[in-house]
Amino acid sequence: MPNIICEDYSDGLENISIPVVNDIDDEDLPKVDYRTSRFSDIPNIRILLENLPSCPGCSCEDDCQKPELCKCQTLELWPDEFKKSFLNFRDGKNKEKDEKYFNSVYACNKSCKCSMKCSNRTIQQGLKFRLQIFKTGNSGWGVRTLTDLPKGSFITNYVGRIMTAEYLKNIINILAALKYSPEYIAQQNRYVLYLSEISSTKNKNIPPAHIFICDAMRSGNVARFFNHSCNPNLVAENVFMDHMDLRLPELAFFAKRDIQVGEVG
Ligand SMILES: [Zn+2]
Ligand SMILES: [Zn+2]
Ligand SMILES: [Zn+2]
Repeated sequence: MPNIICEDYSDGLENISIPVVNDIDDEDLPKVDYRTSRFSDIPNIRILLENLPSCPGCSCEDDCQKPELCKCQTLELWPDEFKKSFLNFRDGKNKEKDEKYFNSVYACNKSCKCSMKCSNRTIQQGLKFRLQIFKTGNSGWGVRTLTDLPKGSFITNYVGRIMTAEYLKNIINILAALKYSPEYIAQQNRYVLYLSEISSTKNKNIPPAHIFICDAMRSGNVARFFNHSCNPNLVAENVFMDHMDLRLPELAFFAKRDIQVGEVG
């Protein structure tokens, strides 16, 4: 019998409970402030998140079953200024990435006529598959699925504290000045994901104050336990729903191929 040390890591916050199993040693649950949506406690970023330019919704009456007629899914709603601001960010050197960016998912939002059942509301519908957090033999905690996941299934989005790359850099500089160990300092980056390809640090044209990151070190959801893999079975996509700020897409994980029960994410 697996050694279940917690019946539901999300403590009722997800649609489906997420058990935690440790069959390896006696390490207790990793302590995290579990959340289902991203947030910021940094005043100017919190204000920014609360005042993002809203996105007009579609007027589909069939729960958006015809993607070619749905204004969200055909990008018709997105104004030219939005596309221009995107052009300002990219450097044009990586066409493939640029195209991938334009292939982002534009989810239905609170202004749309469709119901919560619309298939273009992936993130809002939350967790649909039974996942389990477990202690791995050699890479800390990981996540595996307790059901088969068909290719393309939405798994979950990445949740954490939003900050800028500049803010994180300042924290790291302060820790270094206070003589914290290099291991502790490296930890600060461990659960950080950059929010978009266009705000990659490789693009020198973007000031660090405009590069946004999501840090799940202390607060986050099950996605913080996904391990990096050379042969990933999940793919992260940018999703926009309630706003049109290109710097702040949601990162959503989808099954890259059919994934079988017990496979690790
Ligand atoms: Zn629609
Ligand atoms: Zn819809
Ligand atoms: Zn819509």
